[in-house]
Amino acid sequence: MKAAKNRIGVVAFGEVPELVPQSIAAHIQGILHVDVDVLASLPLPSSAFDQGRLQYSASRLLQHLETLSLSPWDKIVGVLDGDLFVPIFTHVLGEAQQGGKHALVSLYRLWIRSADAPSDLSLLMERSAKVALHELGHLYNLHHCMDPRCLMHFSGGLQDLDEAFLDYCSYCRIYLRDALLRRIKEAGETE
Ligand SMILES: [Zn+2]
Ligand SMILES: [Zn+2]
Repeated sequence: MKAAKNRIGVVAFGEVPELVPQSIAAHIQGILHVDVDVLASLPLPSSAFDQGRLQYSASRLLQHLETLSLSPWDKIVGVLDGDLFVPIFTHVLGEAQQGGKHALVSLYRLWIRSADAPSDLSLLMERSAKVALHELGHLYNLHHCMDPRCLMHFSGGLQDLDEAFLDYCSYCRIYLRDALLRRIKEAGETE
């Protein structure tokens, strides 16, 4: 089954609203036209928690994903509700290995967390899908895009994220389609 090698997996780390990984998977499937599976959730590894910063280290979590060597998925998107950081930023909404296999989405800052405001699940689903598709773009070796409406535009915060469309610009779309076709061809050749 050649297509299996080009599948994308979405996996929740720890407690995550069940609808979120499903919605991320549906958006990836709808926009990239590839098969996406929601995997059984995994425990959040305590080794990825930084006791000094009280946040999760994106690089340690990506390393952890690598050691799990989840197959047969071509790309894996991990979703967590913990706050995520990379050393040069106070926090990140997501992280990916450029051209690699694993990416992360943190829901922590995408929620409205207030005692008197109901949490807006539809907003959370839209934002997390945008972050997931942005990070997936990096996995397919896309770089940041100048178009502020494009999903591959660097998003400095929620305002940028909310202003972007839930889609790639036509330029990034072409690049992504070529990258996907290349992956399918490579998968066929290693059969
Ligand atoms: Zn980026
Ligand atoms: Zn673009």
